[in-house]
Amino acid sequence: MSPEKKEECGLFGIYGDDEAIQKTYFGLFSLQHRGQESAGIASTNGELIRCRTGMGTVSRVFRDSSGILEKLSNSIAIGHVRYSTTGSSKLINSQPFLSEYSRGQVAVAHNGNLINASLLRDEYEAYGSIFKSSSDTEIITHLLAKPTHVSKPDTLAHVLNHLQGAYCLLFLFDDRIEAARDPYGIRPLCVGQTETGAYVVASESCALDAVGAKFIREVEPGEIVTLDKRGLSSRFFVKPGTIKPAHCIFEHIYFAKQNSFFFGENVHEFRKKVGKQLAKEHAVEADVVIPVPDSGTAAAVGYSEQSNIPFDMGLIRSHYVGRTFMSPEQKLREMAVKVKLAVVKEAVAGKRVVVVDDSIVRGTTTRGKIRALRSAGAKEIHMRVSCPPIRYPCFYGVDFPTKEELLANNRDLEQIKEFLGVDSIGYLSLEGLLSCAVLPEDHYCTACWSGKYRIPVDITMNKFSMEQYQMHMFGETSEENE
Ligand code: SF4
Repeated sequence: MSPEKKEECGLFGIYGDDEAIQKTYFGLFSLQHRGQESAGIASTNGELIRCRTGMGTVSRVFRDSSGILEKLSNSIAIGHVRYSTTGSSKLINSQPFLSEYSRGQVAVAHNGNLINASLLRDEYEAYGSIFKSSSDTEIITHLLAKPTHVSKPDTLAHVLNHLQGAYCLLFLFDDRIEAARDPYGIRPLCVGQTETGAYVVASESCALDAVGAKFIREVEPGEIVTLDKRGLSSRFFVKPGTIKPAHCIFEHIYFAKQNSFFFGENVHEFRKKVGKQLAKEHAVEADVVIPVPDSGTAAAVGYSEQSNIPFDMGLIRSHYVGRTFMSPEQKLREMAVKVKLAVVKEAVAGKRVVVVDDSIVRGTTTRGKIRALRSAGAKEIHMRVSCPPIRYPCFYGVDFPTKEELLANNRDLEQIKEFLGVDSIGYLSLEGLLSCAVLPEDHYCTACWSGKYRIPVDITMNKFSMEQYQMHMFGETSEENE
């Protein structure tokens, strides 16, 4: 995976298992690809919610707490791995986010990005609310605690109707888990069940597999699923069918793990299909097809199968370089790429090479890989990309750079080819991409390619909007801005 574009967050929850905390730990491990900046687990014994969060990967955060994990026997837990799409990378923003209000304790875990968080925060601060983090998630707890909301027959449904943007949310109360997905279903969320009857909810089905749970179904857009002593129950906070879904198809192209199943299909199969489509649209005479591992691998297999050009591993990813290197800072990102990807000279020297990557964002890391392949003796390099040129930023939970930093912004294909130093370039068309998906074309978000944002956005917003807000109000300086 390219460090130019960052995963968002991963959620895991389990109800009714004596090893809930331990299973949450392993569930989070399997979702580690969705965020490596912080991790946390909140659990309850039915009376008290306890929460532990920390900076870094799951193994790092819970390295010294294996004893604690074994000792606690709470049967309800939720967990979170984070990459900061809103708010900076610091402990105060790590999740689950534990709060106490008039109805007791609640821990919240969020995947996505609330585009109206700043507005809501303005409103609440004007009435005296105090915020302790710069993440967009905290506003949700303030909405939950507002007395006029608490008095509603269904507080949670009422609160969710105030939120705009992309969100999958897990709420841990002392007696239950409530899992909700935004009305557009932008990010994935699914439920499953273990052999012993415990219910599991997770961002991706790979986390269900990790704890031996069977996939039941995806949480529907606009649905709240409750896991409690009565089992699994469901209700909708928007009338089903009134809003057309806008699933993030980039989840299938890049973010998700290959063995996951969501938006109606398996990720690996989808990537192979787009690789085949790419070969149909951009055929070239070559000796070998190599992927940029890992997310480009399945598309390269598809390209190779369709074109009958042999597949080989010309780039090898080091899995021993920790993801803690995947800093949000550009300088560290570049260093990380050099360390993580090595060229197999014997696979590319003297050959006409097709390089398949899932996407190109800034292009600087891709250019580095191309240079390395040239140095290793590749005769020709033909770049093939399994999605269209990314020209617009994402406001729904993916940390793309600004529009100006995107390689395809204001550059035509010839200029992109020159910038990367390749002999030819071919991007998959948007029509070709959508033709590979099982759901109708208009059920997907394509804003980063088309600029058509299904939920209207303020394009001046970025992940540090909350910090900028705080600086404006209090003169506070965030870690990243120092
Ligand atoms: S803009 Fe792109 S990355 Fe963001 S939700 Fe839409 S498809 Fe996904």
